[in-house]
Order: sequence, then C-alpha cells, then structure tokens
Amino acid sequence: MSYQTERDEFFSILGAEGIRPEVTRALLRESTTLQRLAELECSSERADRDQVRCPAGRLGAKKSAPCLCKDYGSYDSTSGAPLLDPGLRAYNAARARKAHGRIPRHMVKSAASTARVVKLCQAHNLVAHFGGDPRGCMLVVSVPSGRTNDWERRGIAVPSQGYTSAQMERMCR
Ligand SMILES: [Zn+2]
Repeated sequence: MSYQTERDEFFSILGAEGIRPEVTRALLRESTTLQRLAELECSSERADRDQVRCPAGRLGAKKSAPCLCKDYGSYDSTSGAPLLDPGLRAYNAARARKAHGRIPRHMVKSAASTARVVKLCQAHNLVAHFGGDPRGCMLVVSVPSGRTNDWERRGIAVPSQGYTSAQMERMCR
C-alpha cells in the first residue's frame, strides 16, 4: 500500500473516532519523525557521532528534562555523587549536572517527539504505543472504539514515510 493510501485510510479511521484532522496530521508528522530518526540510528555512524549534552545536564535544565545518558552509558556516577555536607547544596547540584554525559542528537529528538505524542494522545482520548524497530511500526494508537489494524491488535498503526534509499545514501556517507 502506498503512503498516500495509508494516510487517507488513517484519516478516515481517526475521523470516525471523532479525532480532529489537525490532531491526525500531527500524529502522522511525529510518526515520520520517529521513523526517520530510528533509520538514522540504525544505519549511520555519523548520526552517533553528532552528540549533544544530555537534556538533564544542561545549564538551567527543567526538573522534567529527561536523563538519556544513563541508558546510553555516558553518565559519570562517580563525579555525580553528592558530597555529604549540607552547606554544599549548590556545589552538589552543579556536580550532579556535570555528571550527565553526551548523547547522540537523534536520541534527544526522539525523546522530544515521543513526549509530544504522549501529550497529544492524552489530550484526545488516545493511547500511544511506540515500537523501536524502524522495519516495523514505530507508532500505534489505541482508539476509543477499540478498533485495531496492527498485528499485535493494540490499535491503529500510524503510517510514516521513511527516507528514500537515495536520501539515506547521502546522509550516511
Ligand atoms: Zn543524563
């Protein structure tokens, strides 16, 4: 099935569930974002070398900023351990921040996209399920009626448009 056909079908299914077109469009956009980031992650060493600071370790990071470097393995727990002196609170906070390491930029982007999808779904009576394998379905949403079309019967698969092989070739050189 072509992307266009999948997209039309997705619009009509979500429309029947009472989901507004702009919400459906946002889900399609995020699904493509997640798909492309996963493709990059799988196939490009260059994508892994393009690194940024862990969101939780940035200067002025919000409390809600996710730590992604612990999973990635670049968190330095020895330098992050607090010193046992109550007078050193500010110093300890700075130490804790500096313990966060660097991670590939695509991880930060994926986490941000995932958070946007979760928020969008919560606001519109949908439940998001994420798949990590770009060969499979990256995003499925459970709809109010319980209708499903994914093979795990969790919900409706959100179509995505991956990179063409030519685009991939250019990026991964
Ligand atoms: Zn971190």
